[in-house]
Amino acid sequence: MQLKRLEIKGFKSFADKTVLDFTGGITAVVGPNGSGKSNIIEAIRWVMGEQSARTLRGGRMHDVIFAGSDSRKPINIAEVTLVLDNEDDFLPIDFEEVSVTRRINRNGDSDYFINRESCRLKDIVDLFMDSGLGKESFSIISQGQVEAIFNSKAEDRRAIFEEAAGVLKYKKQKEKAERK
Ligand code: ATP
Ligand code: MG
Repeated sequence: MQLKRLEIKGFKSFADKTVLDFTGGITAVVGPNGSGKSNIIEAIRWVMGEQSARTLRGGRMHDVIFAGSDSRKPINIAEVTLVLDNEDDFLPIDFEEVSVTRRINRNGDSDYFINRESCRLKDIVDLFMDSGLGKESFSIISQGQVEAIFNSKAEDRRAIFEEAAGVLKYKKQKEKAERK
């Protein structure tokens, strides 16, 4: 599974349609403070089903819509599409390429699509949850999380690594079995 493309339109600082093509290997996004690097990560979180406006540094969900700038009027709709390569069947869906789209307007009305077919937010959340790419996973590590790892006690740090490696659930199962 690999990120192929991210299309952002009307989301946060991206008033115009912006397309990021991810080729193989590592992609780094660099730019001055305030240029929109974090907004790109937030677009990915959002399209994957983020439900907390606070995590996206907003008060209400429709705060993600481009609010205007000195030179541009506000926009009324934000739309993000994430295209993933699924040739290895990593995602539990029978398509070699999967696109996920989320759209919101100023009334707060939202639309969700998987492969351009209308769906529910839950369908998107479920699609990623089973894959380990969901909300509670380590697929996106925020600045705060890095500090938490550095500042934590050795045992707590170990738990973080065990969870990231997927060992924790087996440890829990083992403890449960031993108690019986
Ligand atoms: P840093 O290097 O400081 O972390 P960054 O590149 O991560 O910066 P972002 O936080 O992604 O920058 O972008 C911040 C910019 O996005 C600010 O200029 C802010 O005004 C703009 N912005 C955020 N939300 C909106 C919105 N809804 N409408 C228009 N602009 C927005
Ligand atoms: Mg940032």
